[in-house]
Amino acid sequence: ALAPLYSPARVRELLTRHGLKPTKSLGQNFLIDGNILRAIAEAGGAQPGVPVLEIGPGLGVLTQEIARRGAQVTTLEKDERLRPVLAETLDGLEVQVVWGDALNFDYASLPAGTRVIANLPYYITGLLLSRFMRAPGIVSATVLVQKEVAQRLAAKPGSDNYGFLSAIASLYGSVRHVRDVPKGAFFPAPDVTSSVVRLDFDRSRPAPEPEFLSFVETALHHRRKTLRNNLRLGGFEGEAIDEALAAAGLRGDVRAEDVALGDLRDMAVKLGVVR
Ligand code: SAM
Repeated sequence: ALAPLYSPARVRELLTRHGLKPTKSLGQNFLIDGNILRAIAEAGGAQPGVPVLEIGPGLGVLTQEIARRGAQVTTLEKDERLRPVLAETLDGLEVQVVWGDALNFDYASLPAGTRVIANLPYYITGLLLSRFMRAPGIVSATVLVQKEVAQRLAAKPGSDNYGFLSAIASLYGSVRHVRDVPKGAFFPAPDVTSSVVRLDFDRSRPAPEPEFLSFVETALHHRRKTLRNNLRLGGFEGEAIDEALAAAGLRGDVRAEDVALGDLRDMAVKLGVVR
């Protein structure tokens, strides 16, 4: 019998036989640790009949783990060189591979109850997470990201890591830290520690208006600057900002990262961004 797909020897053998080298610019750090793979699939809710969306199957290690648990997997891969590899490693499993850039995928078309489970390409993590949040069919995203991103996702206002990502994560639902993942769990090893986080999106809440989302983005653009400064840079009038700050009961020099979402909401109403 063959060693499991995630074993370092198999990963090297597959890459060599197909004449491939991991591409750094595509964030190709392949998982070589079975315990981590099982933990991600488990935490992500891969179960019989559950629609799962994966981004970046790579050699198919996580894809296999999810599909073998009976989930209905759709996976998006940009690197066409992996076609023959996935044909081999996903043979006999019911997986739909969609070739192309995950940034061009229509997330709104996903069925209700979809769970995202993925070891994300790090260079587009933020963009992908905001796509997941905005897709009404997606109920959770269990993702392997850089530890620093995981900390930003879970941060509360007033803490060091608080920013736009933290704000929108809390607008849409909740974040749970599942576990840290050491560099040695990947081939090749990345420069930094990673973490698995699970985001749950509460679809019973009304979706935040796009106007409010872009207001929050403007307000937190430079999180160490004052809120006033950020809003000025975003094109708001100084006088209007001062009135709105006063109405929200905020100090004129409050820093963006210290402002709670409820207060930002009040500001947005006062400034006529939302009703
Ligand atoms: N899932 C595999 C694993 O855990 O071993 C590979 C994960 S690797 C961190 C990221 C994967 O995303 C790579 O397979 C890479 O080719 C793919 N990828 C990078 N950019 C992409 C994009 N824009 N759209 C779709 N896939 C992309």
